[in-house]
Amino acid sequence: MREPLTRNEAYYIYDNAPLYELCSVADAIRKISVKDINVVTWQIDRNVNITNVCKSGCKFCNFHCKPHETDKAYITTIAEYRQKINEALELGADQLLLQGGMHPRLGIEFYEKLFSQLKKEYPKLRLNALGAPEVSHIAKLSGITTLETLKRLRSAGLDTLPGAGAEILSDDIRKRISPAKPSAREWVQVMHEAHQLDIPTTATMMYGHVEQPHQRIDHLITIRDLQAAKPEGSRGFTAFIPWIFCPTGTRLEQEGVSPRFSATEYLRIIAMSRIILNNITNIQASWLTVGKEVAEIALKSGANDMGSIMIEENVVSSAGATTRFDREAMQATIRRAGFTPRLRDQLYNYRD
Ligand code: SF4
Repeated sequence: MREPLTRNEAYYIYDNAPLYELCSVADAIRKISVKDINVVTWQIDRNVNITNVCKSGCKFCNFHCKPHETDKAYITTIAEYRQKINEALELGADQLLLQGGMHPRLGIEFYEKLFSQLKKEYPKLRLNALGAPEVSHIAKLSGITTLETLKRLRSAGLDTLPGAGAEILSDDIRKRISPAKPSAREWVQVMHEAHQLDIPTTATMMYGHVEQPHQRIDHLITIRDLQAAKPEGSRGFTAFIPWIFCPTGTRLEQEGVSPRFSATEYLRIIAMSRIILNNITNIQASWLTVGKEVAEIALKSGANDMGSIMIEENVVSSAGATTRFDREAMQATIRRAGFTPRLRDQLYNYRD
């Protein structure tokens, strides 16, 4: 394994390396990190929201509502899951990305019942469900530890834990953008426990809002150190996925936080992710938030995966992300970038 960069080395490279050199180095590292250098992977899944009720009130999220907003609040019914799953299976999906919210009344029994029911009806369907903040919330609500919560969720049918809710792993930033969300320490603890149980996870970063540039590097180093602490043989983080803050209509936008996205800055983050994360194989390009063209360039800047075509996505889309893909467009984009597209599952096994 490559020797890890020190924090100061990472800061220096991020601040000073010319973009072309940064991307060239990241691309060279991609080639020695992945098993097929000419392959870019992609996935078919469907994001289904368990509920839109959430007490977190993140200022970048237009999706959630409060429990008393009865005209908007919903909990997805089993009949609705059946319809969405059947549609997804028809389109070739092999998993559901089940995103929740911090619902003030849904404890561990609700999720156990839901996951068991879905697995009973669709035993081959993979459940990539919840996230570290929801696990912390469910544990508190149910009066049990997060470790116990993870064990019970896994017994009920949880296959993998998404990396959502990381944003920037700094409590100063979290207080500003999502004050009621579990802390950075809690996110790290839940992920560490998931790795102890060998529940595979991913890691994310949402940036370009109120953080300082070096806090992005700090975030990457936290993820790298957490991966280094996983038990031998545990799969840990299977991928890292950075995406940009989408501001449209959000409370952060109303408070004057303007988007700081630029394509070149995004490519620098993709390249730095590949360079710093010496112990995570897969770096995903976020076509949903940066668009197909920039995602295509990211594949030459350290990324090796295009993520899912997302048959349904409601959270980021409600804040202005408008790009859409079907399976043909996804594969055409990967080919145009000079790679062979391979359909994968959540654990990066090829499906075609
Ligand atoms: S981003 Fe997630 S945790 Fe935050 S308010 Fe929206 S649904 Fe709740």
